[in-house]
Amino acid sequence: MSQATAKAPTVAATLRAMRRAGAAGEPVPAATVAEWYSALKGQLYGMQKAVRYECRPLHTTEPWLEAQEGDVLQARKRGLDVRALYLHPPAPKEQHRWPPDSNGDGDGHCLACGETEWLAGPDCRPHPPLRDHRSSMPFRITWMLEPLEKLQHLTKHMNPLDRAKWRNETTYLIDRIKDHEKGSQP
Ligand SMILES: [Zn+2]
Repeated sequence: MSQATAKAPTVAATLRAMRRAGAAGEPVPAATVAEWYSALKGQLYGMQKAVRYECRPLHTTEPWLEAQEGDVLQARKRGLDVRALYLHPPAPKEQHRWPPDSNGDGDGHCLACGETEWLAGPDCRPHPPLRDHRSSMPFRITWMLEPLEKLQHLTKHMNPLDRAKWRNETTYLIDRIKDHEKGSQP
């Protein structure tokens, strides 16, 4: 069993292993192919709702017949072999865009949605760009308060001399802005 699929038999891990094997150009052991198959089947079809169940007596080659609910739930008791038929999984809507210099180890991040390659699901869903509502409003001096207060807070990491200087600066500006706001209120 290959390590990657033993640890995380996800679609991404399996595809990665397949890609690596293809790049290596060496014959792949049948057991590995079987692993890939079961990982892909389990991951792609396992959580999908079957569109139809069929059954036939165990260990026979009789034709598959549509199974009733009881046949599926009590397949063992009734001595039935049950198979589930699925639709094809929907094609991914949007493909991820991996960085061109991605070295194939799965550590790359999608350029569109930022997902890590080895974790990414089939669809790429980029986050809508964060809209800064300030850009559609007239500038307000109070917007400086938060960054200034943050700056003031960060002065604790400075050496004593810088700390005193920048704490003074930020405190002065914060106070002036607050005074201004008080003064300009109707
Ligand atoms: Zn993506």
